[in-house]
Amino acid sequence: MADSGVKSATDESPRAANRGGATQGSAPVRAEVSNYDIVSHYFELAADRLDVPDDVRAVLRSAYREVQVQIPIELSDGRLHVFSGYRVQHNGARGPYKGGVRYHPEVDLDEVRALASLMTWKTAITGIPFGGAKGGINVPASDCTTAELQQITRSFIDKIDKVLGPTRDIPAPDVNTNAQTMAWMMDEYGKLHGHTPAIVTGKPISLEGSFGREAATGRGLVYLYEEAAPDLGLTPESTRVVVQGYGNVGSWAARIIGDLGATLVGASDQHGAIRSERGIDPHALAAHAKEGGRLPDFQADGVEPISADELLALECEVFVPAALGGMIHEANADSIRCRMLIEGANSPTTPAADRILLDKGVTIIPDVMANAGGVVVSYFEWVQNLQHFRWDEDEVNARLSKIMRQAYAEVSARQAEEDTPLRVAAYETGIERVLDAARTRGYI
Ligand code: GLU
Repeated sequence: MADSGVKSATDESPRAANRGGATQGSAPVRAEVSNYDIVSHYFELAADRLDVPDDVRAVLRSAYREVQVQIPIELSDGRLHVFSGYRVQHNGARGPYKGGVRYHPEVDLDEVRALASLMTWKTAITGIPFGGAKGGINVPASDCTTAELQQITRSFIDKIDKVLGPTRDIPAPDVNTNAQTMAWMMDEYGKLHGHTPAIVTGKPISLEGSFGREAATGRGLVYLYEEAAPDLGLTPESTRVVVQGYGNVGSWAARIIGDLGATLVGASDQHGAIRSERGIDPHALAAHAKEGGRLPDFQADGVEPISADELLALECEVFVPAALGGMIHEANADSIRCRMLIEGANSPTTPAADRILLDKGVTIIPDVMANAGGVVVSYFEWVQNLQHFRWDEDEVNARLSKIMRQAYAEVSARQAEEDTPLRVAAYETGIERVLDAARTRGYI
């Protein structure tokens, strides 16, 4: 990595770096509220409703284990730069710790903590036998060469391998990490412990990854759309979709909902946003992005570039925030004109924005349910690895569909019974299940 690459990543304003949403426009791109504040707010709301006593709450709030390691990397001028790597294991009452690893210059311990606790609730809400964890390295992945990313990944695994294992903690992809990153992790762990495919999920198909894992988060999100749409009188043909952050989650969601008959009318990446009233071909756009194209450079009939603010204000039935946390906040929530907001990203909506959208009558399908498809298929990958067996994609998708739809049925029944938002009902469900497991084990 060139010296200037590191400097620009670590010295620039924290609210300007490498994000998945467009950066033009007048409202701030991302809220000043941290992911930790967002997740804590929703947790306390549900814990209040469940009357969770303070001493027990303190256990659920804090993490079981937090590991921070230094990752020194030699720059092209020969000097060392130290990155920080984190792995936070939040709660393991329901099974081995599980969660992704993100590479982003803004990653810090607080953010990883918040994201680890989201994984605890996500695995509990979907009923898969895992606890919650998250990892991260504060590296500007887009400024790194492949060789540098490989070196950083291997060094991270060497330093945290003692807390990992197929029955202890199983990493997976997250922001700026992918199947290639998981292959390096598996290989490095294998050098230390022998070939162990079940140590990470989200691996390439050629290295015991699962069919359907790459598309799983987007696919799971669309299953929930299908469950919620009839209550709003929506059919795919009458659904216009806007996707903020056309990465893995956003682009798969757009392609799969598009195949059902919905129309993609707007999309963004960190370079800018586009719209088309007639519709954007989600497959062609995904191919453009995969080849390294910037979204505003996408050329097609009727497609025009717009600002980040204009993207938020596009009239649509479904808005999918699939970029980073805190992108929907107090200063921009009111401009959103959708019937349903389905959270592809983790903690994209601040508490103030959540209130504004609920007051406007928007149905919010929260992150802890909406984007759980990824970890559900990670669970399938782990099961297949432990059995040394492989399921075909139809089987993976059918099982994913069943789990996602069941989670929605349980949470929406609770929402109706208690007359609370889906998010509160989802957190309540997750917290109850974790508490039950922790108490039954005798942990608390
Ligand atoms: N990073 C994804 C998430 O936030 C997937 C985690 C996993 O598969 O373990 O849910």
